[in-house]
Amino acid sequence: MDHFGYRGSDLYAEDVSINEIAERFGTPCFVYSKATLIRHFHAYADAIADIPHLVCYGMKANSNLAVLELLAKEGAGFDIVSIGELERVIQAGANPHKIVFSGVGKQAHEMQRALEVGIHCFNIESLAELDQLNSVATKIGITAPVSLRINPDVDPKTHPYISTGLKDNKFGIAHNNTLQAYKYAQSLKGLRVIGIDCHIGSQLTETGPLLEALDKLLELIELLNAEGIVIKHIDLGGGLGVTYQDETPPHPAEYLAAVKSRLAGRNLKLILEPGRSIAANAGIFITRTILIKTNQEQNFAIVDGAMNDLIRPALYGAWQRIIPVSTTDKEGQIEALFDVVGPICESGDFFGKNRLLKIAAGDLLAVRSSGAYGFVMASNYNSRPRAPEILVDGKEIYLIRERESLESLWALEHRVNK
Ligand SMILES: *Cc1c(COP(=O)(O)O)cnc(C)c1O
Repeated sequence: MDHFGYRGSDLYAEDVSINEIAERFGTPCFVYSKATLIRHFHAYADAIADIPHLVCYGMKANSNLAVLELLAKEGAGFDIVSIGELERVIQAGANPHKIVFSGVGKQAHEMQRALEVGIHCFNIESLAELDQLNSVATKIGITAPVSLRINPDVDPKTHPYISTGLKDNKFGIAHNNTLQAYKYAQSLKGLRVIGIDCHIGSQLTETGPLLEALDKLLELIELLNAEGIVIKHIDLGGGLGVTYQDETPPHPAEYLAAVKSRLAGRNLKLILEPGRSIAANAGIFITRTILIKTNQEQNFAIVDGAMNDLIRPALYGAWQRIIPVSTTDKEGQIEALFDVVGPICESGDFFGKNRLLKIAAGDLLAVRSSGAYGFVMASNYNSRPRAPEILVDGKEIYLIRERESLESLWALEHRVNK
């Protein structure tokens, strides 16, 4: 459930009209709902409130400071993948002890900083990385808490680009090498083994693969215990899907009930790293139709947003719902199947194809489910300033990131003959 919907003929975010936001801040822009973000976070946190747990928001999904701040205030921890994310989330007021650090290519300076601020755990993905972390930790005299990311070789049945738990991809330590890897980790003086983790993919629409991965990890924990290696927490990663079109992903409570029953009687803290399922449907992308172009083959709504602002349709062929911001009939509107496309010189620059819309030039459209992997994946391609981000809280409107200025586009560049 989210807090976007029509009041009469106008689309609202909570108690604010989207028309009003577009008027005030221009288009394109992203609009987030605070109540939705908080609700989605609590769908996780409340479901596991009765067991030791930590919900580490996968912040790569949407890392605006205001978003991080409000989740930190709700008690969230964070899953980070770079020093940029570490510094950003500290800026936002996060508790470093609730941070886990994921990623296949952490660099020594990133490890050092994370050790200095005292993060909860490093999710390690290779033996080489164990060596590197050990040498950084030994050098600065701080023991590093580690978990090993195991690749359980489970097919998450999602898009290949966001599928990460099969044995032929770059992520994690192969299931068969688990014991050997943990023994090696134990032998390194700079490290302290505390957990086990996995993350098999994103936009999963069934619990089967997630629970299969959990079962594999629980078996491994027994194996490790028998060897005297004590695992204190199990981190199941993120990956729960959302409804973009007609998917029916499990509710976090349903997934977590199954997880809890498997954890019963074991002395394990549960860590989760949800990103998309917290942020995706807490945001929409607003764009204005520049003009309508029709030829014999197809109708195009050419809009002022583009693939540089929201790349999911272009990158993954992702389907996101496109709806009018106002459903009031206007003169000059055409009702037809439209390809909704941006102004960039690439055929991949589209938000949706063959969408039934009744629109005219100047009309506003909202691309739903744009709160995750939206703004964070934006670029300046075609020298387009990145769009502003706006957070709505009831009747209140906060500009949480300004539209980039044209000057900022070249501010870091240097001419040679000047
Ligand atoms: C991307 C990622 C997440 C978040 O995934 P969602 O599908 O957005 O929930 C969590 N953990 C790791 C290691 C990731 O790479």
